[in-house]
Amino acid sequence: MMNSDPSVNVAIPKLPKEISGLKEISLNLWWTWNPRGKNLFKLLNSYLWKESGHNPIAMLKSMTQNELDRVCKDESFMREYHYVYDMFQMYISDSNIYADEPLPVAYFCAEYGLHHSVPIYSGGLGFLAGDILKESSDMGLPMVGIGFMYPQGYVRQFIGSDGWQNSAEEPIEKDVAPIERVLDDDGNHFTIEVPFIEPTVYASVWKINVGRVTLYLLDTDIEKNDPWDRQISSRLYTPDINQRLRQQIVLGIGGYRVLEELGIEYSILHLNEGHPAFALFERVRNFMEKENLSLDEAIEKVKQTSVFTTHTPLQAATDVYNFDMMSTSFRDYWEKLGMNKEQFMRLGINPDDPNAGFNMTVFGLNMCNNRNAVSKKHSEVATEIWQHVLPVTNGKKAVIDHVTNGVHLPTWFGDELSTALITLLGEQWSFIQDDTALWGFMKEIKNKKLWNISQNSKVAMVNFIRERVRIKYAREGIDPVIAIAEGVLLDPDILTIGFARRMAEYKRPDLILEDLDRLEKILNNRDRPVQIIFAGKAHPADMTGKKILQHIFKAAQDVRFHGRIAVVEDYGENVAKYLLRGVDVWLNNPQIPMEACGTSGMKASLNGTLHLSVPDGWWPEGYNGKNGWSFGAEPSDRTKDANALYDLLENEIVPLYYDVDDKGVPNGWVEKMKEAMSTISPEFSARRMMKDYLRKFYIPISKELQNDKNNKGKKK
Ligand SMILES: *Cc1c(COP(=O)(O)O)cnc(C)c1O
Repeated sequence: MMNSDPSVNVAIPKLPKEISGLKEISLNLWWTWNPRGKNLFKLLNSYLWKESGHNPIAMLKSMTQNELDRVCKDESFMREYHYVYDMFQMYISDSNIYADEPLPVAYFCAEYGLHHSVPIYSGGLGFLAGDILKESSDMGLPMVGIGFMYPQGYVRQFIGSDGWQNSAEEPIEKDVAPIERVLDDDGNHFTIEVPFIEPTVYASVWKINVGRVTLYLLDTDIEKNDPWDRQISSRLYTPDINQRLRQQIVLGIGGYRVLEELGIEYSILHLNEGHPAFALFERVRNFMEKENLSLDEAIEKVKQTSVFTTHTPLQAATDVYNFDMMSTSFRDYWEKLGMNKEQFMRLGINPDDPNAGFNMTVFGLNMCNNRNAVSKKHSEVATEIWQHVLPVTNGKKAVIDHVTNGVHLPTWFGDELSTALITLLGEQWSFIQDDTALWGFMKEIKNKKLWNISQNSKVAMVNFIRERVRIKYAREGIDPVIAIAEGVLLDPDILTIGFARRMAEYKRPDLILEDLDRLEKILNNRDRPVQIIFAGKAHPADMTGKKILQHIFKAAQDVRFHGRIAVVEDYGENVAKYLLRGVDVWLNNPQIPMEACGTSGMKASLNGTLHLSVPDGWWPEGYNGKNGWSFGAEPSDRTKDANALYDLLENEIVPLYYDVDDKGVPNGWVEKMKEAMSTISPEFSARRMMKDYLRKFYIPISKELQNDKNNKGKKK
């Protein structure tokens, strides 16, 4: 019914027919997790590839017809083009590989981290959602995604010479991003009206192809809306509470509407965090209308067929809307559900704080019998803090189950490592990636070879950081001391610790700066020097986070550390990829139990970067005594934790790193890398995570629905 022929939407120059498939490849993010896909664009024109920020649409648009014609005569390019295009075709048309088929899933999330050319994410939650779509595509799981287009969404970080974080919003250029307009039958941009919400809001719909999965994005920045409403989707997690409520109404209720109007079939609703939870209301309304269910029956069915994932260990971190605000928007809506105001509000009231308003997490927990936290530890914490909300059935209190997060391996492996895996295991390695036995092959990689791969990544990272500072220096003439604080003196030959994550107080980014005298001795040791690279944005409204960053930036300028502390500006997907692979040790020291899971340590470990972490989030499940290090007291104690960290560095980590053989290879260290890579890659892959979602939720729900259907059939 809906037309989304890319040729109507995207003004790429006319591609010669010999390479016409480039358009299809460009408009599907599949290439982002296939090294040869990426390489194809680089081969096309490596300069423009870099200039475009690795955005194939922008790049193709900037090429002249002559250039494109010339490429068709380049035999080696054409060979590679045919290979990649054929692989892509095979991937897209391949039938499902997952045998025990679930019913289709609609996945809702406020953000998606897919690639830096589509800046609709802010952090961990988004990357998780992005990895879930990619993995579902790889596994052939029937899934459709719903999210938001943020026209001014992406916040860039600039650190001033005083160490204070400034930010600037980067508008997304819709016509050069790898996104497409969804068109209606008349060829106009398909637009929905968010039903029964006062005042009326409209949203137009875009789509992104993530392999075989489609992600639909709602965009309120259209002429049909009042200026105020155009802003609804303008930025991620707006601090304006009224705007935030409207945003979540559009995402949940509007998102549900998109699926209805596009006629997309799905049976299971998966809500990633509370932001899109209003979709549950629309689902109730839909069951009543379409299946003729009573209100109670519809609510029961919603509970049975919906999954709610919570990501925070803090009650205070959930969205709560006061009753007046809720009434203004939903006055007509609860009538449509045959509810009165009290019944409607009760679904979101936190018994611990009943006057606060409508709580999105309480609502999600109430309306979904399938509830999960994102690590074992988080499941215990979440069950505890929400125990007053969880229902008791047959005398048994419900728990919040866990599905520990995982990461999409093909996305997060460095290219050189991917290539080595393909050489060792063949192109099909990713089909069996969660088989622990498979990873025994790691032993067969020569220590020297693995060491070289990791050290090459370190060189690439240092070059990348220095080049950025050089450009900044050339452009702004920054003080050389600032250039030092930003990393020009980094040394690609020494032990490098990375700390890259959001600059939030609970993550304790400056823990390692607790005892500067002790740190100085560790960093400046003449034979066994160490350097630390920090990166991360503070939330624009988080003054404490900004102060912590400033504190670190001061230390980075301090001559006593000899330029061995660096702060890298504007942490995001691209910087993350360099750091995750380039540093030797990935430091994680949140206050326990504040990190629900954390995923960057997984991405580091699978690249052979060793995880040095307190036992929080996923680490108690991941750590086996040999594949990284665990330190820190429980409950957390700043002084004790800092001392434990220095002890480990002095006594174990630094000596192990510098214990090299006559070829310069630290064999003990490399063995540890292999242990990390072979134990963490399968267990914390998105493949294992999706299999858990299938086993715990998607398959049981599908079976129940099939049974219900069969029983109904019999009754007739
Ligand atoms: C994986 C990832 C995150 C989330 O990592 P945490 O361990 O939760 O901090 C954040 N930002 C980027 C760019 C990532 O790739």
